[in-house]
Amino acid sequence: MSIKYDKSYTYDIEKVRKDFPILQTEVYGNKLVYFDNGATTQKPRCVVSKIEKNYFNTNANVHRGVHFLSQQATEEHEAAREVVRSFINARHTHEIIFTRGTTESINLVASSFGKTFLQPGDEVIVSQMEHHSNIVPWQLQSGVKLKVIPFDEKGALVLDKLDELINEKTKIIAVTHISNTLGTVNPIKKIAEIAHRHNLPVLVDGAQGAAHEIINVQELDVDFYAFSGHKVYGPTGIGVLYGKEEWLEKLQPYQGGGDMIDRVTFEKTTFAPLPFKFEAGTPDYIGSTALAAAIKYVKSIGMDKIVNHERNLTEYAYKKLSAVKGIHFYGTTGGKSSVISFNIVGIHPYDVGTLLDKLGIAVRTGHHCAQPVMQTFGVEGMVRASFALYNTFEEIDQLADALHRIVSIFHKK
Ligand SMILES: *Cc1c(COP(=O)(O)O)cnc(C)c1O
Repeated sequence: MSIKYDKSYTYDIEKVRKDFPILQTEVYGNKLVYFDNGATTQKPRCVVSKIEKNYFNTNANVHRGVHFLSQQATEEHEAAREVVRSFINARHTHEIIFTRGTTESINLVASSFGKTFLQPGDEVIVSQMEHHSNIVPWQLQSGVKLKVIPFDEKGALVLDKLDELINEKTKIIAVTHISNTLGTVNPIKKIAEIAHRHNLPVLVDGAQGAAHEIINVQELDVDFYAFSGHKVYGPTGIGVLYGKEEWLEKLQPYQGGGDMIDRVTFEKTTFAPLPFKFEAGTPDYIGSTALAAAIKYVKSIGMDKIVNHERNLTEYAYKKLSAVKGIHFYGTTGGKSSVISFNIVGIHPYDVGTLLDKLGIAVRTGHHCAQPVMQTFGVEGMVRASFALYNTFEEIDQLADALHRIVSIFHKK
């Protein structure tokens, strides 16, 4: 009996794939199948040409320049801030802080919130599925204790436990929007409601969220939202921290330097208004404009269509891969995002990854920067295939065929 699959595309996939030159690359004589999008995404031509154009035509340091190029570069950099604001529907452009990425955004909040509000003995609530970058920055705040929201066997957060974890020592809740290992989409709006009932702010690690969902920070009502440019088809080295104005106003600066000051004397320095208070030094104005180009590209396809496409691929992949002998999936909640993590009985995840690579298929193997998740499942590592807007059903067929081959090789030994 053959199963019928719906393999329809929500947009012109062949046209989209032509925008990503790297997809034509060959690996060991096979056409590249890129399924490591959870780690970083490939870049469309328009993003790379924006970088070239800016360096060749408008490069000059931003802010305070009286000359033509500096003013033009400043205008573009600030226009990029508006593109980001609209992408996540923040209320104000000055609530958008440019950083190096999710990691720096979270470190910024941990450090500034820490300096302003955290005392030894205070508690920060995180979840059991956090990436290391939403665990370690909090541990670096001296004397601060982490409390952990657990997840169930399917990989869904057990929210009933959240109320129990909150006490008078709790100062902030920091959770991921989408798990990069389990694909779980967390009920952020509900978490924010619970937090706000206790007058606690919420920080969201949106590294996966911004790439795979339509983000509306006002609707979610979160206080901080962090994401990276390189996971949404933009360049490396640029990221975003959204913060509600009232919180950003209250927090002490992160780093000191140029651009973040109002008036400096050796006795006393006053700080620049938002967003500059949190942007010490020359900002990555090339990266910000290239990120804006990436966001415009994504919007031109339609974030809703991309989300649907990725959901269709994920559902299809589950069906196809379920037939692989000995496969075990991690993270099986409903409505999950485009991440499939698995192991195959009797085969080490590194062997699976290495053999897939020889067939041209790029997946991630290991702990995916979420060792507590591995500890929960009692495994050293997992194989992860994560999908993006340019992936196809045929590529998933290739992955399934390759896994069948790998299993048969191992069973012959
Ligand atoms: C990738 C990722 C991060 C870290 O992002 P960087 O770009 O390395 O700063 C944090 N959290 C999640 C869930 C991620 O997927």
